[in-house]
Amino acid sequence: MHYIVFDLEWNQCPEGKEKEEKGLPFEIVEIGAVKLDENFRLVDTFHTMVKPQVYRWIHEKTREVIHLDYKNLLNGLLFPRAVTGFLKWCGEDRRFCTWGDLDLLELQRNMKYYNILGLLPGPVIYYDVQKLFGIYCGEKEPRRSLQYAMETMGIECKMTLHRALVDAWYTGEVMKRLKNQMVPENSSIDVYQNPKRKPEEITVSYGNKVKFISREFASKERALREKGMLNVICPICQKPVKKKIRWFAVNARRYVCVSSCPRHGLMKGKIRFKSTDEKKYYVIKTIELTDKKEAKRIQEKQEVLRLKRKKRKEAKK
Ligand SMILES: [Zn+2]
Repeated sequence: MHYIVFDLEWNQCPEGKEKEEKGLPFEIVEIGAVKLDENFRLVDTFHTMVKPQVYRWIHEKTREVIHLDYKNLLNGLLFPRAVTGFLKWCGEDRRFCTWGDLDLLELQRNMKYYNILGLLPGPVIYYDVQKLFGIYCGEKEPRRSLQYAMETMGIECKMTLHRALVDAWYTGEVMKRLKNQMVPENSSIDVYQNPKRKPEEITVSYGNKVKFISREFASKERALREKGMLNVICPICQKPVKKKIRWFAVNARRYVCVSSCPRHGLMKGKIRFKSTDEKKYYVIKTIELTDKKEAKRIQEKQEVLRLKRKKRKEAKK
C-alpha cells in the first residue's frame, strides 16, 4: 500500500463569480504529489502543470497566492491527460492524503466537468492531514494552515509554499510525525459522489464511533422526516439509548443531541447537512462516546440559543 500525498493549485474566474462556469468554479492548473510506502519512506514524486481550457487568464487573487503566471501553464497537459497520468502513477493500492478536504472535492469536480469521474469511483476514503494535526493538538475545530503545522512541529521551510509539489512534500513531512493519529477512526470519507439511493447509503463503525451517510433528499426538512434519521443507537452494543438532550439545531446545517446507554455511558449525536452541486441535501450522522464535560457544554449551548431566540421573538412584539 502507498500513501499518495497530493496537492492541487487552481484558478478561478478572473472576471468574478457572476461570469464563472457553473460546473467548474475552480479550474485545476497544477498537480503535485509524493508517494510514500507504509513506513513513510519516499518512493516517488509526481508533478504536472495543467493547461487551462475554461479561464484564459489568472485571477489576481490566485496569482498573489500561488505565484503562477499564465505563461507557466501553456506548456501544461490538458486536464484529462494530466489526471489520467496522475491516477496511473498512484497505482491501485493507495490511500490518498491531503491538507484539508478541498483537494479531493475539486479533483472530482474537475473530473466530472470532463466526464471522466468514472476513473475515480467514490466514496473516497482518505486521510485529511489538517484534521489529524488538529486531533494531535487536541483541538475541536481543527483548521490550521500548513505553515502553522510546520512551525509547530519544527519543520524548516526551505522552499516557497503554495506550489503543488512543495505543499504535497511538506504535508507528507507533517504526516510522518502524525503516525499515531493515522488510525481508521481518524480517516475521512469524501462523499462528493454521495449515495443516491437507499441501498447505497453508508454506515461505518469504528468501535466508539459510528458514521452514517444518507442518500440525497430534496430538502433538509424532508431528510429529517426520513424514518430512522433521528434514531440514536449505542455505537458499541447497538442497543437503543435514552435521550438526555433532544436533537436541536446549532445552526442551519448542524444538529446535535446527547443520549446515554445504560452500559456504555454518554454519547453525542451529530447531524450535518451537506448540499450537492445539484442543490440536493444528504446527511452525515455520527454517534460517538462522550463525557460529562462535553454534555454540559452542549447543554449550555442549547440554553444560549434558546435565550437568543426568545430575545428575537420579544423584539418583534
Ligand atoms: Zn451500549
